[in-house]
Amino acid sequence: MDIALKEKTDTEMVFVVSGVTVPFINAIRRICMMEVPKLAIEYVNMYRNDAKMFDEVLAHRLGLVPLAADPEFAESLKMPEECDCEEYCSECSVSLTLRKKGPGVVYSGDLVSETPAVKPVYPDIPLVKLGDDDELELEAVAQLGVGREHAKWEPTTACAYKYYPRIEFSEDCDECLECIEACPRDVLGEESGKPVVIDLENCSMCKSCVRACDKRAIDVGYEEGKFIFRIETDGSVDPKDVLLKACDILRDKAEQVITFCEGG
Ligand SMILES: [Zn+2]
Repeated sequence: MDIALKEKTDTEMVFVVSGVTVPFINAIRRICMMEVPKLAIEYVNMYRNDAKMFDEVLAHRLGLVPLAADPEFAESLKMPEECDCEEYCSECSVSLTLRKKGPGVVYSGDLVSETPAVKPVYPDIPLVKLGDDDELELEAVAQLGVGREHAKWEPTTACAYKYYPRIEFSEDCDECLECIEACPRDVLGEESGKPVVIDLENCSMCKSCVRACDKRAIDVGYEEGKFIFRIETDGSVDPKDVLLKACDILRDKAEQVITFCEGG
């Protein structure tokens, strides 16, 4: 297996992996999306809500606010199903409070966390509008969860792979350059009057270039066992940590199978 990093920011990571199968790469993708835990608001104790929005709707909006947690702190929190408490306690949850008086808009940044290790990723998400003298007072309780249970616990906003494209020109090319114009993603360019590939990894294999070529001199395909993998998160977890955690989860599953086989 060969792996090469292409891009990395706080919320996005792109890498090229080769020498793997679709089932393997798809297992990693599904675990990244559905089984890597993150924090999200699960309970809301509403003390006062004068806003013209039902408590349930506001609670739902709060649930979707991405929360960033210090990785070590998140690791120390128990998953709710592993905790002995009835609903939530200090071992499996983090409390955030919100108090605001109108007029004005309540933003995600108005949530005050009990610990500096947890805070909303983006402080400027509008939650609800308060009229003159309207008051809002609530406690929001965040817990760890997984995307399989609810999309609010999904750390990735996009997690996908595509086959690594392959573009070839044949000798029949009469250098009409129609293919360059036809490509919607600027994959092709011109060099000494000939069409050449200038941005291969941007190719989506739409084959617009193939259709534009009267001579059928261009062929678009893909490389077997080679993929471009992209992970984008909502900012709550670093994409590299999502991938690492997904690999840990896959390894744990494999180890359970090994233990079962050795035991039998
Ligand atoms: Zn608990």
